[in-house]
Amino acid sequence: MRFPFALSAKIAGHIIKHKLRQTPKFAMVLQLEPLHTCNLTCTGCGRIREYSTSLKDMVPLEKCLAAATECDAPMVSICGGEPLIYPKIEELIAGLLDQGRVLYVCTNGVFMRKKMREYLAAIYSPAVEPKVKQLLDQKLISEKDAETIRNSRRGELRESQTLKPVIRPTRWMYWNVHVDGLEFTHDLIVEREGVFKECIEAIKMAKILGYQVATNTTVYKEADMQEVEDLFKYLSSLGVDGHTISPGYDYDAAKKDMVKRLGKDPKDFFLTRDMTRQKFAKILDWGKAFTIFGTPVYQEFLAGHRELTCTAWAIPTYNIKGWKGPCYLMTDGHYGSYQELLEQVAWEKYGVVNGKARDSRCEHCMVHCGYDPSGALGTNYQSGDNWKNFKYNFGAKPKPVRYSSELEKRVYNGFSIGKGHLAEAKAIINPAAGAKGAFSRKEEEPARVGSRCGTGDTTERDQLMAKIKDAKRIEVRPE
Ligand code: SF4
Ligand code: SF4
Repeated sequence: MRFPFALSAKIAGHIIKHKLRQTPKFAMVLQLEPLHTCNLTCTGCGRIREYSTSLKDMVPLEKCLAAATECDAPMVSICGGEPLIYPKIEELIAGLLDQGRVLYVCTNGVFMRKKMREYLAAIYSPAVEPKVKQLLDQKLISEKDAETIRNSRRGELRESQTLKPVIRPTRWMYWNVHVDGLEFTHDLIVEREGVFKECIEAIKMAKILGYQVATNTTVYKEADMQEVEDLFKYLSSLGVDGHTISPGYDYDAAKKDMVKRLGKDPKDFFLTRDMTRQKFAKILDWGKAFTIFGTPVYQEFLAGHRELTCTAWAIPTYNIKGWKGPCYLMTDGHYGSYQELLEQVAWEKYGVVNGKARDSRCEHCMVHCGYDPSGALGTNYQSGDNWKNFKYNFGAKPKPVRYSSELEKRVYNGFSIGKGHLAEAKAIINPAAGAKGAFSRKEEEPARVGSRCGTGDTTERDQLMAKIKDAKRIEVRPE
């Protein structure tokens, strides 16, 4: 089956229950943001900018769990910020699993291997040794890591680790790793070289250890869709279990930041509706070839074959300020409870109906958190939709793409081959140094560029980006 039966059945059961009760609005996925602190400063991320004054604040564990109980969404997406920085992330995951939720732990991947090493240390016994050896063989852990894992059976380390819960593989949880393109593009968007490679290594390690892994990809104006297809092929060859893909949207915080600080026109960066339809023209074919999360009805909407009405109330966001309304992207208020959010937001003022935006800020939005539930809930129902959704969810899983070294060569087109975005920027700033000088940069330089991570201040990197844009691009693909 395309998705695990238990998972699809749980979600279908939730929808049927509310349809029978005729509940007018209910939650399908809770976007839970326990914190907004992040170790990266991705281009286009509104969170670290919108919540820049409360980056150090965190939602207490009890409140996170209470929010999930209150809205009773069958799925919880733990996002942020970077959720693996949340000090009680293990307890949060355990608590939500106890509540019977399906979890997506949305991460930039940088701390995933650390969390999985902690898991290995907590469960280590001689029976685990083949896995440790496999990880060593594939250079996914170091000899030192392996020793720490093995020694965790003795002494203080093990004592303290057995007291602390760890993130264990389960069919109810997915790592949901943020990957926006092949190596060059991804590292450029997340503003740090080496992150793509780390994500891929984390994904490989997770699959060896039996975790379920999904990826999420946001498509911006400059995205090359052939590159996105190559990315999915490669991820499929690694055994990734599913992909979320959504068009980038010019939400207020990111747009204001771009206009005010950088003097840039957001239209140069984010997608309009027409552009989205062009970019997603092949999404239905991708839905057949890859395990894309999201209903076929939503895919038809992305490809421009039909209209949908926004159902942002089905994917509510809860964070340090409360229940964010009207949606994950736009903030017109925060509310004390999910019920208040449902009752006090004037839902009829948002979204696009029959091609006409009710709110000008919604005009170009086609994001999954506004429209994917519309496809599942039968908004704008057309004959055959239910069967289409059923067939997609319970149908056969697409066969994994066969690993190919030629594809892998196309994937690693940046930092790994000495052609990361910072090399290019440095060559432009200091042409006398030439490309050779740029490639042999000192270790601390990338760290300095990213040293303001989590503050939302991306000035330095944005200046580099502007110079790159103005300069003639050097060829980054391998021969
Ligand atoms: S990983 Fe990037 S997109 Fe995600 S919260 Fe951090 S800065 Fe934002
Ligand atoms: S269309 Fe819906 S999800 Fe998109 S910005 Fe408007 S309210 Fe938010």
